[in-house]
This record gives sequence, structure tokens and C-alpha cells, in this order.
Amino acid sequence: MIDLHCHSHYSDGVFSPKELLEKALNAGIEILALTDHDTVEGVRVLHQENAQMNNPVQLINGIELSTRWKKYDIHVLGFQIDIEHPELTALIDQQNTRRIERARQISLCLSALGIENALEKATQLAGHDRIGRPHFADVLVNEAKVSDRQAAFKRYLGRGKLAYVPTPWISITEAIEGITAAGGQAVLAHPLKYRLTHTKLHELITHFKAMGGLGLEVVSGEMTVTEVNAMAGACLRYELLASSGSDFHSDALSRISLGRQRQLPVNCIPVWHKWNDDK
Ligand code: AMP
Ligand code: MN
Ligand code: MN
Ligand code: MN
Repeated sequence: MIDLHCHSHYSDGVFSPKELLEKALNAGIEILALTDHDTVEGVRVLHQENAQMNNPVQLINGIELSTRWKKYDIHVLGFQIDIEHPELTALIDQQNTRRIERARQISLCLSALGIENALEKATQLAGHDRIGRPHFADVLVNEAKVSDRQAAFKRYLGRGKLAYVPTPWISITEAIEGITAAGGQAVLAHPLKYRLTHTKLHELITHFKAMGGLGLEVVSGEMTVTEVNAMAGACLRYELLASSGSDFHSDALSRISLGRQRQLPVNCIPVWHKWNDDK
């Protein structure tokens, strides 16, 4: 079993790398990539924890980079990256500066809406300063402004909503170049999550491929068989490799737990097909 997309508490997940590793072992996962948003802090810790247990899981260094394409926030996964590579490190630093600035602005918006000290509260919840919208969503839930995270996005944090702040994330091209420079493979995350029209989605995939992207996340979290088959078709059509992950954040937030996403259709070439060739 394989899972190439999950989050730890170093981004907007709930569990520590150690807890994720224990869950992966319990689920029978053999290959795992931790793909936190714009950070590799958790990957470092995950390696230490795995080594302490005698390396029971094959770990793939991963990241999920936030990018801006037209008016959309598009996520690009990077696998097998050198987490110390200077070009990638510079990109990550840049992203975090922008994330911190955005968090300040979101907090100002919320303050104008009568929700005080949201940044401090979100930082408290996160335990670090790489604040994401899910942390603000939790603040809004705690303040009883909304009933759940979903509602917080719908009313406050989603694109165009009351406290939405567009972020000048790096471009898709910069993300792919950074991942590739660090020896990794760039994969377009959850293509169906952006709610793009058919035309726009194909424009996105065409651009992603032209810029050096190698794969599509054909299976990502909760999907119908029809959706999986559509993404498998896109993979074949654009000659891209296929990836698969749960996008697990926590038991409460993710309906698909670690490694429990659907199987990759057999007509796709998995992004991991050559990963063990040099061993
Ligand atoms: P950010 O990187 O701070 O813009 O936050 C993006 C993250 O918010 C995603 O990775 C998801 O974990 C979460 N998210 C995005 N949209 C929603 C939504 N509608 N409901 C709940 N969580 C969401
Ligand atoms: Mn997330
Ligand atoms: Mn994502
Ligand atoms: Mn994710």
C-alpha cells in the first residue's frame, strides 16, 4: 500500500510525524510521502522517527507547494526532493514570508468583522507561524461564528468571501523548477478540487506539462470511480505519470484515512514505477 499525500501538524494536519508513522504502519503502508504545505520541517522529523524504528516504512521526501495560476490557488506536489537544496529552500522561505503576511491581512479582515486577535489565536492553535486558512477556520469555529471548518470557508475564507486575501504564491513554473532543481518530480495535486471548467482544467494540465510537470494526482482523498477514471484518462492523454494519496489531515477532517484512497487504475503508469530501480 502506498500513500503519497498527507499532512502533519507542521502544516495544517493534526498529527505529529511520529503519529503518522504509527498510523502508516497500522494501515500496512509500505511507501509514504509526507507532503506538508510549503514546508519540509515534518519530513526531517519523520526520517528521525523512522530511523529510530529501524526504517519500517520507505519514506519519500515530499512537499505540497502553493502556487498562483490566474485567479486560482493550485497545489503542486514534489516527490523525491533534496530537502536541503538551496533553490528549493529559497522558494520555501519566500512562500512562508507570504503566508505570514497573508495571515496578518486575514486577521485584519476578521478584526473588521468583529473577531479580535485571530492571528494570535490561530498561531496558538497551529503551534507555529506557518498559519493556513484551516487554522483561522478553527478560530472561527471556536468563537462560534460558524459551526464547522467547511462553513468557515464558505462564509469567510474561501475565494471571494468576507476574509479572503489573495496570496501572491509562486507560479506553477517556479514550483516545478524548484522541485526539479532539487532532484524531484512535480505532480499536479488533486486536479478536480479547483472546480475548474473542463476547458480551464485542460488548459491547466497543458500548462503544467509544458512547464516540466511529470504527473497528475489521479487518486486524491475522496473521489468517485468516475472521477478517478476521468483523471486516469487525462494522464494517458497528456502522457503524465499517475500519483495516489489520501490528502489525510486528521481523523475528524479527512473522510479517507491514511492509505485508504482508491486504487490507481491499471492503465496508468505510477509516478513511483522507477523509484526502486537503483536499489
Ligand atoms: P491555505 O494553504 O492556507 O490557503 O489553506 C488551504 C487548505 O485549506 C487546504 O490544503 C485544505 O486543507 C483546506 N481547505 C481548503 N478549502 C477548504 C474547504 N472548503 N473546507 C475545509 N478545508 C478547506
Ligand atoms: Mn491542507
Ligand atoms: Mn492541496
Ligand atoms: Mn494536501
